[in-house]
Amino acid sequence: MQKQPAVSVAGLVKRYGAKTAVDGLDLEIPGGAVTAVLGPNGAGKTTTIEICEGYRRPDAGTVRVLGLDPVADAAQLKPRVGVMLQSGGVYAGARAVEMLQHTAKLHANPLDVPELVERLGLGSCGRTTYRRLSGGQQQRLALAMAVVGRPELVFLDEPTAGLDPQARRATWELVRDLRRDGVTVVVTTHHMDEAEQLADRVAVVDRGRVIATGSPEELCRSGAESSLRFDGPPGLDLGGLLKVLPDGASVAEPAPGSYRVEAPIDPQLLATVTGWCAQAGVMPDRLTVQRRSLEDVFLDLTGRDLRS
Ligand code: ATP
Repeated sequence: MQKQPAVSVAGLVKRYGAKTAVDGLDLEIPGGAVTAVLGPNGAGKTTTIEICEGYRRPDAGTVRVLGLDPVADAAQLKPRVGVMLQSGGVYAGARAVEMLQHTAKLHANPLDVPELVERLGLGSCGRTTYRRLSGGQQQRLALAMAVVGRPELVFLDEPTAGLDPQARRATWELVRDLRRDGVTVVVTTHHMDEAEQLADRVAVVDRGRVIATGSPEELCRSGAESSLRFDGPPGLDLGGLLKVLPDGASVAEPAPGSYRVEAPIDPQLLATVTGWCAQAGVMPDRLTVQRRSLEDVFLDLTGRDLRS
């Protein structure tokens, strides 16, 4: 990872009339990693990303993309940043592959177009005009256009929305390859499994602010719902076990011989519990670590009610 953040957002505010879409948002996106921006509908993700892309102007706050101002330095950023928009941004009458070839020619060192077309399963629609492509094909073409110029940084707004499982997989593979090549990827998604699979870091946005950041593992480890369970002889000395556990941990025997330790789970905790069992001469049977999924974390953070 690079030391300087690839994207740095501080105190960002954006209003649409009386509606405050982004409300003092702070976010640092590290270089050379995949960052997933998650949030309920209307949280302000697209607005934030579009400000970073230079398509919208903020009402307050500062935004730096690769150290530059997305509006004032747009010309410098254009060849370095790839953008996949949620909807089109493409001339509907243009032929798919011609458009991609045209975009490739605007860059100094583009990807191989036929290879990219093949990878994203666009081979059969080379001469088809954009408006006649299926929704999923349009989506894949938009992704190809965003990456064909070998950008240093790429913004992908819901890249797999509406894609079939094969296309989704191809998209994931492409994102992994970008990451391997050192490209910074910022992706918004509503698919928690996608964020879990792809992202080095996650930022959860709600009501126009970032309310949590961390790696998917860090976020899933946090909170009381991570637990370690094991079976053993009934009536173990739980007070003794509690003494060796970190502050804030709890232990219980919800059913005779069935034990539950609640604490942030890490390798040290596992070692502490199994070490204590070894000293007590207890074999911890069916030892399992129960972790919250990213979806659990997301719902805990943003609430379970449908937003209007
Ligand atoms: P989604 O997950 O549904 O794509 P989002 O997190 O990307 O949502 P935004 O599209 O940034 O959210 O929208 C944030 C808020 O700003 C919403 O309440 C939306 O209705 C409002 N909004 C967005 N664009 C405009 C606009 N051009 N004019 C007026 N209101 C807008």
